[in-house]
Amino acid sequence: AVLVARRAWSRLRWRRAVELLREFEEGCSTSIGRLRQLVDAMTVEMNAGLASDGASKLKMLLTFVDCLPDGKETGTYYALDLGGTNFRIFRVQLREKDSMILMHQVESYLIPQHLLMASSKDLFDFIAMKLKDFVDRVEEEYELDLRMELGFAFSFPVRQISVSSGALIRWTKGFAIADTIGKDVAQCLGDAIERRMLNMHVTALVNNTVGLLALGHYYDKDTVAAVVIGTGTNACYIESTEAIIKSQGLHTDSGGMVVSIEWGNFWSTHLPKTSYDIALDVESSNPHDQGFEKMISGMYLGDIVRRVLYRIAVECDVFGDAVCCLAVPFSLSTPMIAAMHEDDSPELSEVARILREDLHMLEVSSRARRLVVSVCDVVTRRAARLAAAGIVGILKKIGRAEDNSRTVIAMEGGLYVGYALFREYLNEAVIEILGEELAQNVVLNMFEDGSGIGAALVAAAYASKR
Ligand code: BGC
Repeated sequence: AVLVARRAWSRLRWRRAVELLREFEEGCSTSIGRLRQLVDAMTVEMNAGLASDGASKLKMLLTFVDCLPDGKETGTYYALDLGGTNFRIFRVQLREKDSMILMHQVESYLIPQHLLMASSKDLFDFIAMKLKDFVDRVEEEYELDLRMELGFAFSFPVRQISVSSGALIRWTKGFAIADTIGKDVAQCLGDAIERRMLNMHVTALVNNTVGLLALGHYYDKDTVAAVVIGTGTNACYIESTEAIIKSQGLHTDSGGMVVSIEWGNFWSTHLPKTSYDIALDVESSNPHDQGFEKMISGMYLGDIVRRVLYRIAVECDVFGDAVCCLAVPFSLSTPMIAAMHEDDSPELSEVARILREDLHMLEVSSRARRLVVSVCDVVTRRAARLAAAGIVGILKKIGRAEDNSRTVIAMEGGLYVGYALFREYLNEAVIEILGEELAQNVVLNMFEDGSGIGAALVAAAYASKR
């Protein structure tokens, strides 16, 4: 009798677990109809953001990049890419002939956690110190009076006043250094570089998407937009100055300017938001901001999965006793969910390993492991399909969603580059929304280190203009 009762109890618990999964799946629905509504909403919001500041959640930031590097640049340039958990330093050598990047060197550094919340000076002093070490190492001898040029890929919203200066509007992705807000970040970096007695000038301050667009365009002139899906997410594209209504009288030789959409802050009632998204937002360091980013990017996907699993664990007790790690925010990272999602072993042994080693969940049955994979799938699929709708929204805005000209979009970021299933879902959804025939003209070009190398290219283009 005890056994029968136990089985019945187990059936009930599992029924509830499956019910919770189904409810979540429905809440995350990205039907083609909904994706099309989001495409339209994205174009509407882009237009509103171009019309006047504050008219949309999309900031549509001017970048003052009105000409992209064309392959004629030569020399050696530096770049710094600051935006996620790491920052990277680049040294890029350019040769004029056939748009050649002769060589690039890159080094990656982890930013100590306490610096994400310290003072502006501490953060930039740390970066400048690493920059000085790097230069000392890679330049065997350098002349102190020879000024080096640097492109600064700064991956946060900035109100630019020129191609080499701009004030931080706000932090995203867990950075929270209050005294940087409103400051010119190029100057903060420049001052720290000077304190290190390095003869280096911040020639270009660009969003990482803008660096990426510069590199994409350097290799393929049909590149008109760039999308980053990593720790955070954003996109930029080339807009005609006439369409930037909020800056009437803006004139550039090319007739265009790169606009950084800051699409991470996109919001629409058509977005499939669940109770887990609401809780994540409320508990984040930037509640009510970056709604799209919180459904799409690497900083958050792992935590959405964790929240769903934790609720199932508490209500249904299907994961064994040791589930307390699931209660800890961010204990499940996006690389972990990618590895579990892509586990194709029959026993889901990688899923078991991650749950055991990283979350100390020792006895997770194979049925429960399949449930974990399903949750990862729902979260990742939704993210990828929403990003696809955003991309088609840009195409529509620039009149490329219905015409046959070849359109290239530069893509970068850990999620797109490092998570194959995410990439597949995204690519498939672009085809689904556009239709096979039109989608043939759209090329998503993948890069690694594109924003850093691209920032060096923008510095090269603008250094020669001075
Ligand atoms: C920032 C953007 C950045 C994106 C990708 C977002 O959180 O607001 O400026 O481009 O992350 O790194």
